[in-house]
Amino acid sequence: MAKKARRSSALKTIALIAHDGKKADLIGFVKDHLNVFKSFNLIATATTGGHLLAAGLNPKRKLSGPYGGDAQIAAEVATGKCHAVIFLRDPLGMHPHDPDISMLLRICEVHDVPLATNLSTAKLILKGLQRL
Ligand code: PGA
Repeated sequence: MAKKARRSSALKTIALIAHDGKKADLIGFVKDHLNVFKSFNLIATATTGGHLLAAGLNPKRKLSGPYGGDAQIAAEVATGKCHAVIFLRDPLGMHPHDPDISMLLRICEVHDVPLATNLSTAKLILKGLQRL
């Protein structure tokens, strides 16, 4: 039974996105849970994905957020190909792609896909996904 659960969690895809002011937080979190993240498929926006690559992961990289990467990830969520989103937004920054950010959050709500916008929630989602 446990073996089956582990196998199915390996098929899950997590999207990782962090705004510039939050990239260090995300990478620190990922490094603390590196082996757990290695057991999932990962997708990421371009710059975040580059940092993840340097940290030892191999995410499928989309466009950078401001160039449509958030929208690409929203499409993966909407089509059932992405099962959780960890999106560390910088609440103190201005973002030219705010409409895309809101759209991604909305799509997660529409499709009832777990969405973390802070590290505490990200930890809970990661634990939950490991149990699936
Ligand atoms: P980035 O995009 O990973 O390419 O910086 C993140 C975002 O701004 O949504």
